[in-house]
Amino acid sequence: MSHSLYPHLLAPLDLGFTTLRNRVLMGSMHTGLEETKDWPRVAEFYAERARGGVALIVTGGMAPNAEGGVFPGAAGLYTPQDIENHRVITDAVHEAGGKIAMQILHAGRYAYSPDCVAPSPVKSPISPFPPKELDEEGIEKQIADIVTAATRAQEAGYDGVEVMGSEGYFLNQFIVTHTNKRTDRWGGSYENRIRLPIEVVRRVREAVGPEFILIYRLSMIDLIPEGSTHAEVVQLAQEVEKAGATIINTGIGWHEARVPTIATSVPRKAFAWVTKKLMGKVGIPVITSNRINMPDVAEEVLADGCADMVSMARPFLADADFVNKAAEGRADQIAPCIACNQACLDHTFSGKLTSCLVNPRACHETVLTYAPTETPKSIAIIGAGAAGLSTGIIAAERGHRVTIFDKADQIGGQLNMAKAIPGKEEFIGLVDWYARMVETAGITLRLGVAPGVEDLRGFDEVVIATGVTPRDPQIPGQDGPNVLSYVDVLLHKAPVGKRVAVIGAGGIGFDVAEFLVHEGESPTEDLTLWKTEWGVSDPARDRGGVAPEGPRPEAPARQVTLLQRKNEKPGKRLGKTTGWIHRAALKMKQVEMAAGVNYERIDEKGLHISLGEARENPTLIEADTIVLCAGQVSNRSLADELEAAGIEAHVIGGADVAAELDAKRAINQGAHLAAVL
Ligand code: NAP
Ligand code: SF4
Repeated sequence: MSHSLYPHLLAPLDLGFTTLRNRVLMGSMHTGLEETKDWPRVAEFYAERARGGVALIVTGGMAPNAEGGVFPGAAGLYTPQDIENHRVITDAVHEAGGKIAMQILHAGRYAYSPDCVAPSPVKSPISPFPPKELDEEGIEKQIADIVTAATRAQEAGYDGVEVMGSEGYFLNQFIVTHTNKRTDRWGGSYENRIRLPIEVVRRVREAVGPEFILIYRLSMIDLIPEGSTHAEVVQLAQEVEKAGATIINTGIGWHEARVPTIATSVPRKAFAWVTKKLMGKVGIPVITSNRINMPDVAEEVLADGCADMVSMARPFLADADFVNKAAEGRADQIAPCIACNQACLDHTFSGKLTSCLVNPRACHETVLTYAPTETPKSIAIIGAGAAGLSTGIIAAERGHRVTIFDKADQIGGQLNMAKAIPGKEEFIGLVDWYARMVETAGITLRLGVAPGVEDLRGFDEVVIATGVTPRDPQIPGQDGPNVLSYVDVLLHKAPVGKRVAVIGAGGIGFDVAEFLVHEGESPTEDLTLWKTEWGVSDPARDRGGVAPEGPRPEAPARQVTLLQRKNEKPGKRLGKTTGWIHRAALKMKQVEMAAGVNYERIDEKGLHISLGEARENPTLIEADTIVLCAGQVSNRSLADELEAAGIEAHVIGGADVAAELDAKRAINQGAHLAAVL
């Protein structure tokens, strides 16, 4: 492996008894795969990443016992059969040249179960179940179960374990007074509160012997009031080292923190500075994490002395070959994780199997395969948006001759609008990646061309990915000069007045509102601005890294009112793990929201609305500009013409279903079609 491109990232790491081939850790992710009990499938997921060059993989969290599982029935190593099953994974990873550690995750009060346990009976704001307070015997049992999980992991062939001590889980709950109200030897002073994590590390080390990787995931910035100070973090890290940890990994923020920590609007490497503060204070390697998604970002973090190693998790869903591509000088071919959470965490939290918006094969390695074709065909794809690009690239890589047409003069379709939103800058990289892949796959690109039926007759297959057109909400007065569509605003950058009414509070209405309240540098591109906006401070100054002055966003650039007809909380249908961030961000910018409205008419004064079915309370929303974000309808005219001419075509993406149109569905549908063409 060449070290010249990324000398820090690709340098081996000597742990004494074993050596990691580079500085890349695939961080723990709960994919739901283990729960399928399809062990060859789980094994292939990890093995593909090991083949892709990552040095050390950490599995999703495994429960040490029933009460510590994230939910009832969460995976763990309970029986001899479980150990055998996990051996399928470890064998596959070792065969692929990789190393793998099992994460032991005790959820404590975060467990979605009436049997959850914790240091004190303090209910978590993100779980309906108040935890039971553990007595001395109960604590001993938890330690013993964690130790047993570690020895079983060793028996199953893992190279190590990661003890989850951050993100507000069980061990973390002992550390801070917010959740630990005890007065015995496990509570009170800081020394007492860190007794449990230290005891766990000490006893795990004792049980597994010296030649087994023991990672301790330590919360370096809790982002909750009463969280740890930096001095306390250092003290814990030093004690954990003494107790026998091999590596310290970084945890950022409790799950109940009201600061986004991994969403797309979080700046890249936003928390590397937190890990850096620990460097030089312990003798063992330290890993940093969060929003590191490209090799140059990772290299920068290491070169800057922020850590000895980087942890990336979601980027390995987006591209299993991340490390190999970086080492081969093909970083521009790495499918970028855009930190959207749409197919990974949002799935996990809805009880669905994890996948990835940009890579539908993630966690589907054995069921969605792109085998080289034995019968190369000529394929025409009309539409260079997410659906068309996804289909075209996979089909071309399988050996087909692909031509993609688009009437626009650039590829990307609706993705080009996402690119314009402050906080969604990652979409720029996604469209650039598509452009690069179109090139490497040898696709013929015909931009500025709208083919007709006759132009398509010669192709073996025709794929219609013509997308959507904005829905016409038919509001009296909408033809006035003060009315724009979201396309005018986001794509054509039409001038918008200071007071704006946004019609429609779906994903695009929220995006447009975000676009309109910002001016100048996006906080996602400016870490200091972002930290101020969300109230993140230095844990050396403020406990938990929570600024006492709270979030201090810049004043909104415009006065925006966001409206919808449905009588429900606006933004309720946004992503499960990101909706709260969008709602909080707009609230900080004083965006007014109104639900259950009727749009009566638009005139030069603004938007006239009424409320409820009885159309009561006529009100004028004074606005200089009204922006229509009323959803979309499928653009099927070419599909209909082809059908009339007797030419069979595949219709995908927004052209197929506009309702719930999103990039995840479009890309997934394109990938599945391309796999069988
Ligand atoms: P959408 O989510 O379907 O929302 C359409 C909005 O228009 C709704 O608020 C709807 O609310 C309103 N509406 C529907 N028919 C209307 C009519 N005849 N007159 C007035 N208002 C009407 O569509 P979108 O916002 O255009 O987004 C399209 C898709 O892009 C989304 O489904 C989403 O998947 C994707 N996207 C996602 C994100 C994200 O954050 N993940 C961001 C942008 C886009 P009422 O019917 O209650 O008025
Ligand atoms: Fe990244 Fe989105 Fe894929 Fe999750 S779904 S791995 S956040 S690109």
